[in-house]
Amino acid sequence: MGEVWAIVVAAGSGSRFGNAVPKQFLDLGGQALVIRAVRAAAACDGVVVVVPAANAELRLNEEGTFIVGGPGAVVAGGATRSASVRAGLAAVPDNAEIIVVHDAARPLATAELFERVVAAVRAGADGAVPGLPVPDTIKRVEAGGGGTLVVETLDRPALRAIQTPQAFRAAVLRRAHAGGGDATDDAALVEALGATVVVVDGDPANLKITGPDDLARAEALLARRGG
Ligand code: C5P
Repeated sequence: MGEVWAIVVAAGSGSRFGNAVPKQFLDLGGQALVIRAVRAAAACDGVVVVVPAANAELRLNEEGTFIVGGPGAVVAGGATRSASVRAGLAAVPDNAEIIVVHDAARPLATAELFERVVAAVRAGADGAVPGLPVPDTIKRVEAGGGGTLVVETLDRPALRAIQTPQAFRAAVLRRAHAGGGDATDDAALVEALGATVVVVDGDPANLKITGPDDLARAEALLARRGG
């Protein structure tokens, strides 16, 4: 059985936080978001962490804590999320069979969720993503009428809110990124190849930290989980 590697993308500017420190380096219960994301991936054979170019001198020590200098799979990201994933892919060894891509912005992902997506790929899918039913009615909109106009209402039972970690056959993920495309997740690039992406049960606690309110919600979830 080939190796499973993880890429944790943490190279965003976190501009929605209006903060000088990128959000992925903010503290959540005593650990930076990115450290929590890396630790969730600890069962993988290796982890590549993609950080902003300005932080590329950072390295991980054996406990998964950032230190300055020394060896470690930390690489500089790119201008978009997809470019950052490609920077990570270049540092994943050729013998990796499965690659799991995870956003540092989801620090509450569990090792079980990593296992679930990896198991679905081992079972035959080209890719596996965690998904949750959508409680809100989702409408497609466009600019018009001096504001925003509804174009259509989507069929809610057919929708899923998709999270990371997302697992893929390494060769398929590398092919999906070979064209240099940009998308909000990796599965979109894999789907564009016509490959099979399955949805496994997502985790409602695996929230994405996009603003200060999310950090407060994550603190509460963490306290309930016991740290
Ligand atoms: O803001 P967005 O949804 O794109 O962020 C998702 C994840 O991608 C975050 O963990 C962020 O740090 C990462 N990212 C990145 N490189 C970028 C943009 C986002 O690694 N250029």
